Amino acid sequence: MEIDLMDVARIDVPFLSLRDVNARHADELKAAAARVIDSGWYVLGEELVAFEREFAAYGGVRHAVGVGNGLDALSLILRGYKELGAIGEGDEVIVPGNTFIASFLAISENRLVPVPVEPDAASFNLDPACVKAAIGPRTRAIMAVHLYGQLADMPALAALARRHKLLLIEDAAQAHGAMRDGRKAGAFGDAAAFSFFPTKNLGALGDGGAVLTDDTVLAQRITALRNYGSDVKYRHEFQGLNSRLDEMQAAMLRVKLKYLNDDVARRRRVARRYRDGIRHPQILLPQVVREELHAWHLFVLRCTRRDALQRHLQSRGIQTQVHYPLPAHRQPAYPSLRHVRLPLTERLHDEVLSLPMGPTLRDDEVERVIAACQSFECPP
Ligand SMILES: *Cc1c(COP(=O)(O)O)cnc(C)c1O
Repeated sequence: MEIDLMDVARIDVPFLSLRDVNARHADELKAAAARVIDSGWYVLGEELVAFEREFAAYGGVRHAVGVGNGLDALSLILRGYKELGAIGEGDEVIVPGNTFIASFLAISENRLVPVPVEPDAASFNLDPACVKAAIGPRTRAIMAVHLYGQLADMPALAALARRHKLLLIEDAAQAHGAMRDGRKAGAFGDAAAFSFFPTKNLGALGDGGAVLTDDTVLAQRITALRNYGSDVKYRHEFQGLNSRLDEMQAAMLRVKLKYLNDDVARRRRVARRYRDGIRHPQILLPQVVREELHAWHLFVLRCTRRDALQRHLQSRGIQTQVHYPLPAHRQPAYPSLRHVRLPLTERLHDEVLSLPMGPTLRDDEVERVIAACQSFECPP
């Protein structure tokens, strides 16, 4: 990401201050780091085992497997199912067209075929009717992405998956802490992938990821695959890779997991205030089915004059982002998808704008963002 220093100088309300996020726990994080340094053991040790136990308990599932990052978590789920014979090269995986590129990369990396479908315009998430229409003889899996932190319609997708004997995989990289009827994101599908990239709801101080699943055989397979395909030292059952959550990041995450629920609660209050305070004929606010469904990783509004609104907010010192400017099927990396037409997805990418959001955003900053939105005058 390129950073324009002129822009940085003018920011009064940052999109997300990672320094502020981690400063709240500096003493605990430093104590945990010291514990790891002094232990003399840095990969596949006690911190990882403890974090996996704690994160599985948090998610309400049997197994957590720590891996190098969120993309690897997604990819290893598919790879695990390939090793188990549930899915084979050339099979199709249905994926929302408006997701982050990693959801697609995990599929194509495994020589599977991503089949992008339109989202539901109100929730930005998979539309079960569009998923149903895309199911064909080679479909093996549905990848539900809880985009921006809001749980996809998992009961409807689970019913579809059951009826058509498909795997249901959750990309929960943005949805730590989202719930439905008290059940957490990551507990609805056959397996779920989480990212602990520093900006996520639960962020490490570096890269990290995890798979959650109740499937003991899959968890064992992924545990071997992340470590050169080995379950016993120097015996290699599979052609695995090296993708592990190291001790330092596991220790950081154990500290931060304790505060995840409080952070999500703060995100909900910020979103509530944005939704009450912003009333503008040109701004379409995100819709929420039920409060607990949304963990508010991002607060994404729609505006047909998005670029003008972004410039207006920038002129008021407010930093915003676009998630995402170009859909996967329009990226140079995917010439194979150039024929795909997804008018709604394409329109969303032109209209979406993410406001500052995070657990350390202050009330006065939220009010400033609201006032700046309200003062937006749509250019002719
Ligand atoms: C961040 C993210 C990923 C990838 O996670 P990394 O840890 O950055 O590899 C995957 N899917 C979605 C929806 C994400 O937001």
